Amino acid sequence: MNLDIQTILVVLLANVWATALALPLLMGWQVSSAARLFQGSMVLQGMSWAVFLIAPKLHDRALTSVALGLLALSFAMLWSALQHWLGPRPGQRLMWALVAAIPAVYFLTYPSYPVRVGTSNALYALQMLTICVALAWPAAHIGRRWRGLVLASFAALMVVTLWRGVLGAFFTDAYPFYRATHPVNVAAVFFNHVALSLCTLGLLAAWREEAERELRRQAQTDGLTGLLNRQAFLERAHTLLAHAVRYDEPLTLLMLDIDYFKRINDRHGHAAGDAALQTVSQGLRACTRGGDLVCRYGGEEFCVLMSRASAADALRFDERLRGWLVKFARDTGSELIDYSAGIAVRQPDDHTMDALLLRADAALYQAKAAGRGRLAGNTDGEQKELSFDLAM
Ligand code: GH3
Ligand code: MG
Ligand code: MG
Repeated sequence: MNLDIQTILVVLLANVWATALALPLLMGWQVSSAARLFQGSMVLQGMSWAVFLIAPKLHDRALTSVALGLLALSFAMLWSALQHWLGPRPGQRLMWALVAAIPAVYFLTYPSYPVRVGTSNALYALQMLTICVALAWPAAHIGRRWRGLVLASFAALMVVTLWRGVLGAFFTDAYPFYRATHPVNVAAVFFNHVALSLCTLGLLAAWREEAERELRRQAQTDGLTGLLNRQAFLERAHTLLAHAVRYDEPLTLLMLDIDYFKRINDRHGHAAGDAALQTVSQGLRACTRGGDLVCRYGGEEFCVLMSRASAADALRFDERLRGWLVKFARDTGSELIDYSAGIAVRQPDDHTMDALLLRADAALYQAKAAGRGRLAGNTDGEQKELSFDLAM
């Protein structure tokens, strides 16, 4: 089989451009930052191969340096897309340093063939290694299959790139020209083709997975406050309750309702009401501990389920939240948002959330009836007198 490098490079160029143009058509324009980086990286790769092909006819030194820089930039964008999909990855500085170093080193070392081929390929191999590390770095159960596919493609590319660099630097006689039909060049362009197809498939799977995650998140959260919605809260609350029952641990539910919320809407408009809801949710996030469940239970009602927390812990939480709201009103010069709250502590015979919710709701009603702006609750779980009722 006689494969001519120039021909396969032209076919590769056509493939990269076809992919770069097909991606936005397929994925649309309104995509996540990760997907946009992926699309952009493909366009840059197309530009890089185009410049690479015309370079020898115009100004080889300058244009090949530009082509190499564009390819390095496209890899860095791909790496950034991975970071968006998988969370923080090591090697950010190295990745961007290589984007500057690859074209600069190539341009400066151009007069010496072994040095420029050796260094530029070694630096590319380092970039590919950083991408492989980013893919292999732990990321809680995110896309093992697509990561494996893209990782295998980049690992293969890295091996041929390194191989080309070693031949160019140390066995220059055996490797006379980097566009020549040499087995390592054929292997490199061949793997580029395969890697292009596999990476595109893999990264489309990454994008689909991201879209699914986002849909799941939207189905579970309240659009205005970003807190859990009632349904998602109840699902998770059942698990926390079952855990508390199993290990006989305390569990406390606090239900709160903003006082005279209708007035905020009536006086300052619906947008101000929405802002107040967001402020309360911000306070709830700031005052709860990791592991607590917080949700917007309905209109201006919120629930906090505190695991391993007693009534005293719930009292302290209530104090923290009220303090947070006072500070917020002072810092922003806005009206103080006040609320009433009811708590219910898990009792030995509570096996569903309904009982806890009923008691917290009854306690909340007591707090409202007693004048609002306070916390009420019965710590022994029976519908009898409140054992405490704190007015602020
Ligand atoms: P109370 O002290 O007894 O709790 O009185 P309240 O005015 O807070 O309670 P009420 O139940 O009379 O009013 C709740 C209001 O909350 C009515 C509804 O229009 C408003 N509301 C519900 N959801 C939203 C929302 O998403 N945004 C805004 N701005 N208002 C909302
Ligand atoms: Mg209210
Ligand atoms: Mg209400």
